[in-house]
Amino acid sequence: MNIAIVGSGPAGCYLADQVLRLVPEAKVDVVDRLPVPFGLVRYGVAPDHQSTKAVSRILDRVLSHKQVNFFGNVDVGRDVTIDNLLDYYDAVVLATGASRDHRLGIPGEDLPGVIGSGEFVAWYNGHPDSSPPLVENVRSAVVIGNGNVAIDVARVLAKTPAELAGSDLSSEITQHLAAQPLESIHIVGRRTGSDVKFTPHELAELGTLQRARAQVLDKSQLSGGAPILETFRKFEPRTDAPVTIDFHFGMTPIAFSGTGRVERARFRCADCTERELAADLVVTCIGYESLACCNESPTNGIFKNDDGKVRDRLFVVGWAKRGPSGVIASSRNDAQVVAQKIAKEVTAKGGSGGESLRNQLVQVGVRFVDHSGWKRINAAEIARAGEQRCRNKFTSRAQMLEAAQDSGAQ
Ligand SMILES: Cc1cc2nc3c(=O)[nH]c(=O)nc-3n(C[C@H](O)[C@H](O)[C@H](O)COP(=O)(O)OP(=O)(O)OC[C@H]3O[C@@H](n4cnc5c(N)ncnc54)[C@H](O)[C@@H]3O)c2cc1C
Repeated sequence: MNIAIVGSGPAGCYLADQVLRLVPEAKVDVVDRLPVPFGLVRYGVAPDHQSTKAVSRILDRVLSHKQVNFFGNVDVGRDVTIDNLLDYYDAVVLATGASRDHRLGIPGEDLPGVIGSGEFVAWYNGHPDSSPPLVENVRSAVVIGNGNVAIDVARVLAKTPAELAGSDLSSEITQHLAAQPLESIHIVGRRTGSDVKFTPHELAELGTLQRARAQVLDKSQLSGGAPILETFRKFEPRTDAPVTIDFHFGMTPIAFSGTGRVERARFRCADCTERELAADLVVTCIGYESLACCNESPTNGIFKNDDGKVRDRLFVVGWAKRGPSGVIASSRNDAQVVAQKIAKEVTAKGGSGGESLRNQLVQVGVRFVDHSGWKRINAAEIARAGEQRCRNKFTSRAQMLEAAQDSGAQ
């Protein structure tokens, strides 16, 4: 059985693994638009959380399986279509994630300095398609959202270069962030303190930063028995911290304003009053939606599916299937279900799979990167890391292709 998986994030890699467990003779090709694998593990998970990024070693083991081929730098939609893949393979699986930021749909959202978290974290994680957001003269940053992505953004803004040692945040971005005259970070959500989606461990980490004091000024927000409130209550009062991280609850953003760039964010509060916060940077962390792939268009941010099946021989997994929720391991559970469906429903029709794909890519002149090419990129990034970093990522496709060239790029 020949299976093509579009996307090499956790969902795509876990699916390849699960398919091989259930159908040991299967051949699985994993295609990604980037020359490098692992999706948001590389480009979403915070650069100072290397223990989380370490899951890429497990995913890499899947890609190095002798019956799995990686085709990096192949964009499904531009270089090859889903219909092409359905001609070559017995089944095709979309594991394309959810990469577009949700929008608030309020006035001022397009002002320079207002940016979705997907774009913001792609920038600080060195994604080759990202462009630098306006992060200049930031005294007051407003982070909108009450999930762990909001915490990641606040933490990366607040950390000192010394605290970022050992991460893979580039030294340019580290220096750029350190040069901001940062005084306050406001983390603002519509929910109450009891209803936030932060996990206790990530929230508690904000109370341990060298130069920042995490606090909830309005203590009335902390009454109640929800376990997460205990984490807020444990934030130590400090007077020696030049940066404050203030949590605000029950505030809905209604507009951003400023001359030529964002300067203020306005909110409606739970008691119907309005409140304004100074904002030289606004990062909205309010979720993501899937992008269309060829003729397949998402509905409400995901590809409509029945337990992973989109239509005959076309399946979907991960964030593209269920939306942007859960942790990396959630995609493994997802993959189990979809792999079972594939094992049950798909029959091998004897197509040539990867060989046809390879021929088409060579014909149209796509320089694809195979697994050994990725290994070459990986080794080069680690070799040029320097003392302060665990990796120095290439941030352009050209650099990646050059590093891959000797072994894998065609
Ligand atoms: C900012 C942020 C921080 C996070 N931090 C954590 C964390 O600390 N811990 C945790 O457990 N989870 C974290 N997550 C969640 C985790 O990253 C996701 O659960 C997981 O990555 C979803 O996997 P996926 O494979 O569905 O999508 P993705 O990881 O997005 O992978 C999708 C892949 O598809 C490829 N692709 C897309 N379109 C095409 C196309 N047309 N052709 C070819 N390839 C294509 C992309 O290049 C990408 O490689 C975080 C998420 C974000 C956004």
